[in-house]
Amino acid sequence: MSAKDYVTSMLNEVKEKYGYQPEYIQAVEEFLTTVTPFLEKNPVYCEKNILGQLIVPERLIEFRVPWMSDSGEWMVNTGYRVQYNSALGPYKGGLRFHPSVNQSIMKFLSFEQIFKNSLTSLPIGGGKGGSDFNPKGKSDGEIMRFCQSFMQELQKHIGPNMDVPAGDMGVGGREIGYLYGEYKRLNGYQAGVLTGKPLAFWGSLARTEATGYGLVYFVKYLLKDKGDSLKGKRVMVSGSGNVAIYAIEKAQELGATVLGCSDSSGYIIDEDGVDCELVKEIKEVKRGRLSEYAAAKPNAKYVENASIWTEDIAYEVALPCATQNEIGLDEADVLIKNGVKVLAEGANMPTKLEALHKLTQSGVVYCPGKASNAGGVAVSALEMAQNAQRLPWTFEQVDSELDNIMKNIYETCATTAKEYAQEDDLLTGANIAGFERVAKAMLAQGLV
Ligand code: GLU
Repeated sequence: MSAKDYVTSMLNEVKEKYGYQPEYIQAVEEFLTTVTPFLEKNPVYCEKNILGQLIVPERLIEFRVPWMSDSGEWMVNTGYRVQYNSALGPYKGGLRFHPSVNQSIMKFLSFEQIFKNSLTSLPIGGGKGGSDFNPKGKSDGEIMRFCQSFMQELQKHIGPNMDVPAGDMGVGGREIGYLYGEYKRLNGYQAGVLTGKPLAFWGSLARTEATGYGLVYFVKYLLKDKGDSLKGKRVMVSGSGNVAIYAIEKAQELGATVLGCSDSSGYIIDEDGVDCELVKEIKEVKRGRLSEYAAAKPNAKYVENASIWTEDIAYEVALPCATQNEIGLDEADVLIKNGVKVLAEGANMPTKLEALHKLTQSGVVYCPGKASNAGGVAVSALEMAQNAQRLPWTFEQVDSELDNIMKNIYETCATTAKEYAQEDDLLTGANIAGFERVAKAMLAQGLV
């Protein structure tokens, strides 16, 4: 069978079997449709059916999470951990607490994580987990009880050399703290079992900033390659969580003007440049809404219940840092009209397949999340290294490693794109480079 037929049959099989899991199909399709040229050059991966092995998760755990609300109600949610691929190291990937979480979302995220983690060149396999628990409006006590119950089951499946979860949407330092406390109560001290830990018990400096900073470092190297820089660029960011906030901070530090950001209720536009400290105060300290931003800044506007990607305003760099599938065909049209030259994903799969094709056909350079947002998990791996060494590194040390890792990822994607596709096809570059390391390891480890 030719490489092309092999890939097509694999995709059809997945579509037939998992048609009811749209996000998973989308992630698999986005990956499979780019790897054919690599398989053509390396037929051994077809002969040994490496794609067939890769597509099936090594393990998918689904469990019940019972917890009690403040008013004494008996509540139940579903918990997940997908241990997708361990060819390169212990399963590694975040935990997401959000009502949209289901098997499809967990499988797409963990599938992407395999290649993202591979691109970091660090020894980490791919995994992801979470729950359909909605943390919004929950008291601190409810969050703590939920995390403890979640960990009572999850602890059976994780460990510093087995599977190392971290945060994702809805899971930050506070949640990791409660999760770690429960793990420690049941298993004793093992700092390396979770990353994204608070600094008080062996978290890493610069982990909070890592995904956002890393995203901007990636764009910095892309622009540098074109003889350009972020200085004077106009940038739009979606989201206002940890990824968005530190992307805004770093982009501004490098001389860009960030025009706006968003949350689930609406978005703000501040042509003077977003006041990052104010966003931090509203979102990180008060856990409030962005509408408060416009109330404090007379020059800013707040638009309720609309996507920031519908705003008609000129900018060159788009950094979607909110959630999956926020940019469809309509939003892509607006971005093209707004003059966007670079779209770099801080979120996982924020761009729909048809939208990304439209954008790239219009000459927008598209940076896939598995490459451009890999800074978070990369610093998680550095946190694992510090925990194993029992030595904390300085902020500067971690930040400069991060910068270097992002440079490496950009260069690997760009070179691989030129070798197998064309200049600036960073999606193909990321997929093939990420896949190559995993496939080599799988082949060497045999049929297991
Ligand atoms: N949730 C982040 C991601 O999507 C970080 C995962 C980690 O640090 O393990 O890559």
